[in-house]
Amino acid sequence: MLKQYSFNSLTASDIEQLIARNTDATHAIQDAVSQIIEDVRHRGDQSLRELTLKFDKVDLETLYLGKEDIEALAKTITRDQQRALEIAFQNIHKFHSSQLRRERVVETMPGVECWREVRPIEKVGLYIPGGSAVLPSTLLMLGVPARIAGCKEIVVCSPPQQTGKINGFVAYCLQLLKIEKIYLVGGAQAVAAMAYGSESLPKVDKIFGPGNQFVTKAKSMVQSMTNVSIDMPAGPSEVLVVADHTAQPAFVAADLLAQAEHGPDSQAVLVATSADMIQRVNDELQKQLDVLPRAEIANMALQNSFAVEVNSLQEALDFSNRYAPEHLILETDEWKKLLPSIINAGSVFLGHLTPESAGDYASGTNHTLPTSGYARSYSGVSVDSFVKKITFQHISQEGLTHIGSVVETLAELEGLHAHKNAISIRK
Ligand code: NAD
Repeated sequence: MLKQYSFNSLTASDIEQLIARNTDATHAIQDAVSQIIEDVRHRGDQSLRELTLKFDKVDLETLYLGKEDIEALAKTITRDQQRALEIAFQNIHKFHSSQLRRERVVETMPGVECWREVRPIEKVGLYIPGGSAVLPSTLLMLGVPARIAGCKEIVVCSPPQQTGKINGFVAYCLQLLKIEKIYLVGGAQAVAAMAYGSESLPKVDKIFGPGNQFVTKAKSMVQSMTNVSIDMPAGPSEVLVVADHTAQPAFVAADLLAQAEHGPDSQAVLVATSADMIQRVNDELQKQLDVLPRAEIANMALQNSFAVEVNSLQEALDFSNRYAPEHLILETDEWKKLLPSIINAGSVFLGHLTPESAGDYASGTNHTLPTSGYARSYSGVSVDSFVKKITFQHISQEGLTHIGSVVETLAELEGLHAHKNAISIRK
């Protein structure tokens, strides 16, 4: 089932090939996205309507739903479902609230005070994927930190369902977040609209959210073409599971499939300390796939996926750090000892009873995470992603006597005499 490799027999270039993902080698995605961006930029709402008809098969009159529609849709879900969303909301809120901390004022020299203060990004755009599966959880993962940060304007985009609306779960999350409008636009066109603005859709300062390869490519393209920034490249989902002899093959297979069912371009990687464990996980995968409603999608993702046999847990972590997974699950009794060896990962799940699904929905951590190896340099979304940290300084008369000659000397050696004079004139 999973293609199998042995770490010892892999060359450096084999490993490079194994860890590469979503490279868009033919530029097919880039070309398609580039056309979409140009079209939205020049033809605004009309382009958004045509692209929604083309890709989502929905003919929209108005591009958004307002408060009344949202209220009516939110009532279509059961009280139990509402309660589950409320608990997820509360846990995500609790975890993210702890991220806002005031920094202290630092006196670098007597009379020279420096500090940083946090300010929200004013206008943010949240992309909620809705192609093959609607993800209300993503709305909570982005909306909660945006609200905690204090962002003034929160624009939400998600592709319409076949009804021309959104589902009740997304509507209920909008209510929890006190957001009164949602734009029924998906894919690269939603990203382009948030970057350039259209008649209906406001331009934002920063775009957030995961999505398929079209969405991810559009985010990185508008970032280089406009003054809009993005959270990170959060593309097709991926998991790497490390399993030793203490792992339960059924749990490991369940975690791999939970990832694989996201989309055909998802990747599920198993790194196991024995060939026997790989075999037992493969058997379980087959068993669980047989009863999985999204088996077809999961099967396609598994074609993209693989298993690596390693000699030790340390070797497993070596491979994992090179892969830099979005999600890392350590299914071993030894997980505590391994923590210092984790260098590159988006979010980590420890032990046999901590499935990724818990973090995907409700434990409190964020599920918008860097994919495709970007966990080497990016963090997942947090309250920090929705704020700027502005530096401030104040210099007193005493401070000027301490720092003045230092600045004058440095300005002079750089030949910047106006810089020097800005100090000298105050002395
Ligand atoms: P999506 O909302 O990302 O994409 C749907 C849109 O893609 C459609 O509305 C359409 O406009 C566009 N599209 C489809 N085919 C196209 C084509 N041929 N040309 C141009 N545009 C096209 O929903 P999805 O497709 O279900 O993908 C969701 C993705 O989000 C999955 O890959 C999943 O793994 C990922 N995800 C990632 C994270 C993360 O944190 N990294 C979290 C959740 C989900």
